[in-house]
Amino acid sequence: MADTNEVVIIGGGVAGCSVAYHLALAGVKSTVIEREGIGSQASGFSAGGLNPLEGAQIPGPLGPLAIESYRMHLKLWDALKDETGVDYHGRILSLVKVAFDDSGLPELQQSLDTFTAAKDDGFSAHWLDRQQLTELEPRLSPEIVSGMYALGNAGLDSYQYTLALANAAEKRGVTFRSGSVNGVKVGNGRVTGIFLGDTEIACDHLVLAAGPWSREAETWLDISIPVDPLKGEILRLELPGPRLEHDFSGGGGSVYTKPDGLVWCGTTEEWQGFNKETTESARQSIIQGAIKIMPDLAQAKLALQTACLRPVTPDWLPIVGKAPGWDNVYLTTGAGKKGILLSPGMGKATADLITQGATSLSVGPCNPSRFSSISSGQQAAGDGN
Ligand SMILES: Cc1cc2nc3c(=O)[nH]c(=O)nc-3n(C[C@H](O)[C@H](O)[C@H](O)COP(=O)(O)OP(=O)(O)OC[C@H]3O[C@@H](n4cnc5c(N)ncnc54)[C@H](O)[C@@H]3O)c2cc1C
Repeated sequence: MADTNEVVIIGGGVAGCSVAYHLALAGVKSTVIEREGIGSQASGFSAGGLNPLEGAQIPGPLGPLAIESYRMHLKLWDALKDETGVDYHGRILSLVKVAFDDSGLPELQQSLDTFTAAKDDGFSAHWLDRQQLTELEPRLSPEIVSGMYALGNAGLDSYQYTLALANAAEKRGVTFRSGSVNGVKVGNGRVTGIFLGDTEIACDHLVLAAGPWSREAETWLDISIPVDPLKGEILRLELPGPRLEHDFSGGGGSVYTKPDGLVWCGTTEEWQGFNKETTESARQSIIQGAIKIMPDLAQAKLALQTACLRPVTPDWLPIVGKAPGWDNVYLTTGAGKKGILLSPGMGKATADLITQGATSLSVGPCNPSRFSSISSGQQAAGDGN
């Protein structure tokens, strides 16, 4: 068990801040080291969606951790608001998935079954015919033939959420330091400190929560941490007329209504290394998908275009647990397209492992050792369990 201030966490995104917060709840003070600013990367620019029922490896090995994290989120947004005063607009959403012809109906039926089966967690779903769609939102495209209304997804402002975690952690004694970690100090088979330039900071335990930059630690620790950046862009638009009441997706487009009145559309997925430039081609592709759902979006004014990097592993499962071959190093990274959703589970599981040596959260499929037999850059074989 670590003494206070002896856990160092590399990375001040949602993963690192969640570990710091959950360690602090357990009475362990840590130091978070961040080189660009808290929530300055994907954690600050995500779409903020919390859908625990669908996605890569959900349903599947990631399903249990997704729903556990979702349930934690529902309690967190009031707790963090009470503690910090930060309202990050945690809320339950209504989502309408649309089909443009009969070929889109099986996917909607599958979603409907999934949402209906999760009724114990407050989810529900039903079909919408053309007339009901028009009553719900008259600006929907006349090309849409059918829809599926789902209630129960949640959403939040991921930048404010990350700040709230950091703020609450700081109030509980966590230290935040600015700087870029460029190596670790090793003694007797343990990491005994990290380097910020020439400055050494001693630690009893190290947590790597460096998102898409996690591979930087591969040479420090001589292990494989196969996390790569998947670029994603989002458009924030000012839609003239009444505010949208629901989120919409289908036909390759997504339209999310946000508490600030803006409509967010996206997202793209491109393997472009660490390039975070926004592009005209991404803008065009996102807007085409959005206009297909709602032609009025062609008149919308562009308020902001953002790009950021998802931390993705070869098997689309996060990496959570003790680093192979190291007794006092933990990895909390690689959450891909679900890092905001999974952050409470990943943060608490890591804190549990440090303070108790075990966790009841479903992080078994996320065990870092699944990559220990392959060298960096190789694709993982099998299902990663
Ligand atoms: C367009 C887009 C939309 C998304 N939408 C959703 C969504 O709706 N729902 C959802 O759940 N997820 C979503 N995601 C995914 C989510 O944003 C990420 O999974 C999550 O933010 C990853 O958090 P992280 O803390 O692991 O990484 P990051 O947010 O990247 O944080 C890592 C931090 O570590 C710091 N760092 C790295 N190396 C060092 C070092 N050596 N020294 C010091 N600091 C270092 C970096 O500066 C960075 O701030 C989306 C992502 C994108 C790109």
